[in-house]
Amino acid sequence: MRVDVLTIFPEMIVEFASHSLIGRAQQQSLIELRVHDLRDASDDVHRTVDDSPFGGGAGMVLKPGPIFDTVEREQPPRPLFLLGPGGRTLDQQLARDLVAAGGFSLLCGRYEGIDARVREHLVDDELSIGDYVLSGGEVAAMVVLESVGRLVPGVMGNSTSADDESFSSGLLEYPQYTRPADFRGWAVPDVLRSGDHAKVRRWRRAQALWKTMGYRPELIEARGGLSDDEHSLLQEFPSLAESLPVWTPQSSSGSAPSDLDA
Ligand code: SAH
Repeated sequence: MRVDVLTIFPEMIVEFASHSLIGRAQQQSLIELRVHDLRDASDDVHRTVDDSPFGGGAGMVLKPGPIFDTVEREQPPRPLFLLGPGGRTLDQQLARDLVAAGGFSLLCGRYEGIDARVREHLVDDELSIGDYVLSGGEVAAMVVLESVGRLVPGVMGNSTSADDESFSSGLLEYPQYTRPADFRGWAVPDVLRSGDHAKVRRWRRAQALWKTMGYRPELIEARGGLSDDEHSLLQEFPSLAESLPVWTPQSSSGSAPSDLDA
């Protein structure tokens, strides 16, 4: 799978990739990552890529010229996504869809954003990583790369581990433990050491359900509630999720993000 990233900070992406599973996937030719420096397409000695906004206002805007030129010269694989808070939000299903697409490209904004003609006439869509504002698209590109990269067949050593994880089944993942069996007096649940694999599977399923019901009830709703079998699993195994600490901010307004235009 080929993924291209267009940015004014190519070294951020290259460095990140070399420390992540993307680096190994590149060595194994499972992923081909190409990073393009938008400044290479600048037409002046200062390698300028930004200018002040028409109509006034604070900050700078990335010029359309270097972006159009880079795309036309390098022909990055489509779909080409602009990264921005106004786009559709990345989730596990979209990550799967991007793997299935076989290749795609990410354009990172900076400063106040990007000349709107790029969104209107060059890219295929806009992609957000969540309802908050970053100062640049590079971290968003890393999030997309990592969430998609680990779903590419062969990238994760043990492919069943990706199937088991949070969201793959529409549920959060069950809790995991490793040695020591007793850490500071906190013992690992007996069932995990019982050797009864069927029971372990049922316990894990029950804990995944409890956790999801407690923290992300909308995910349970989205999959159509609980089956009869799941109801009995919950009867059989008590919840471990109830006792988890939860932080509540002091000024918890709970309102929609209000400073997305920051
Ligand atoms: N003023 C713009 C935000 C600019 S932030 C606005 O209100 O929409 C600068 C750059 O950071 C953006 O061009 C985009 O590439 C990136 N960025 C910021 N928040 C992001 C998010 N939630 N998801 C993906 N990219 C984001």
